[in-house]
Formats: sequence, C-alpha cells, structure tokens
Amino acid sequence: MPRKLVAGNWKMNGATGAAAMLSELPPSPGCDVLVCPPFPLIPALLATGTVPIGAQDCHWADAGAHTGDVSAPLLAELGVQAVILGHSERRADHGETSALVAAKVTAAHAAGLAAIVCIGETEAERDAGQTLEIVGQQLATSVPEGGTAETLVVAYEPVWAIGTGRTATPDQIGEVHAAIRTALEARFGAGGTDIRILYGGSVKPANAAEIFAVPHVDGALVGGASLKAADFAPIIEAAAS
Ligand code: PEP
Repeated sequence: MPRKLVAGNWKMNGATGAAAMLSELPPSPGCDVLVCPPFPLIPALLATGTVPIGAQDCHWADAGAHTGDVSAPLLAELGVQAVILGHSERRADHGETSALVAAKVTAAHAAGLAAIVCIGETEAERDAGQTLEIVGQQLATSVPEGGTAETLVVAYEPVWAIGTGRTATPDQIGEVHAAIRTALEARFGAGGTDIRILYGGSVKPANAAEIFAVPHVDGALVGGASLKAADFAPIIEAAAS
C-alpha cells in the first residue's frame, strides 16, 4: 500500500507571514505532506525548510511569450517538488481542457516535478449516472504516458464537494477510487498499483479518518482546512495513524 500523502491547496489564500503555520504541523509524521501556496509565497515557505512545497499550476512551455504564466523549470529551480494540475477551478475559470492538462503534466515531468492531476464529476454528471464515465475520460485524457508512483498522483475531487462542506460518502469515494485504480493498472501495469489516489472535497478533521479508511484512498487534497494548522495538523495525524 503506498505511503499516504496529505497535500494542502491554499488556492488564492494566505498572506506574507503565513509560513509561520508550517512550524505548527507535526514534525515527522508517518505520511508525506505537501503545501501548495500561491506563487508569490513559495520562496518564504521553502525558506522554512519544514515541509515540501508544491505549486498550483504551471505552463506547458518551458519559456516564452506567455504573460502571467509560470514555467515548470522555474518552479523546479526554486525547489518546488510537485504541481497541482487540472484542478476543477482552473478547468472552470480558465477553460482548461484535459489535453492542455496533459501537456502541462508532460512539462512538469520534464522539469522533474511530480504532477497531482485532478479529475472529478459535476453534480449534474453524478445525477445523470455519468460519474465513472466522466472520471475515466478525464483520467485517460489528462494523464500522458510515462507516469510512475514517484512522478504521478491522481486526485479524485467531485466538483460538488469542493469548498461546499459536502463530502462524498465512503461508498461513493470507494467506487470511484476502485475504478481509478483499475484504470491505472490497465494503463501502467504493476506500476499503477503504487500511484497514489487522493480524495479531495471538504476533507476536515471530523471526516478525515473515515475517508482514509476507504480502500484505494492514499491521502487527501485539502483546500480550506489546509489554511490553519489547527485543522490541517489533525488531518495529517489521521493519515499517519
Ligand atoms: C481543493 O481545493 O482541492 C479542495 C478539495 O478544497 P476543499 O477542501 O476546500 O473542498
């Protein structure tokens, strides 16, 4: 069973001084921890040397005329280890397609960054009984060839559960994670068994242990509850136990 990963997605939150909260997290937990702040906070968080730092996006090109974007090689040079790609907020806010996400994953891998690829259905798609079809399509088209347990993490994030306080039930999570595992093994062979599959969507201290107990849940991608150590630390402890 892969070692669990708890990744915090600060989204467009946090301020200078936010790095202080990292010192309040469990020092050597029995799971991997990653914090993904907005780009300008990355150097300050890296300087603490407390937890690995990730980014929330990167461009598919190494450099060039792409105003406002940030390249994977630049992130890697800073000391960033991983990047979240294809988050539903980027798919919705910026019209990111799965093909674009796959190009970004390729760029991340070429720069030596691990990619956390987000997939998940909308509420309308779930109500229409299309969850496994949508998630399967997104997985197939957002993830390029060549992923390994070291370079690829898949995050199942039902769109209706992100930032809403509504969490998918253990049965709902279990069904989708099992389908993702089957698809990863079909695609990547034995290596697909160790590629971590995170759940994301209103994970909090009160529901973390129940979610981590679901088969094929190898950790969590945590938004709102990653902003305060009082919330994030118990989620990390639940993953480690
Ligand atoms: C996320 O941003 O990926 C997320 C899961 O957010 P939240 O935990 O706030 O639902």
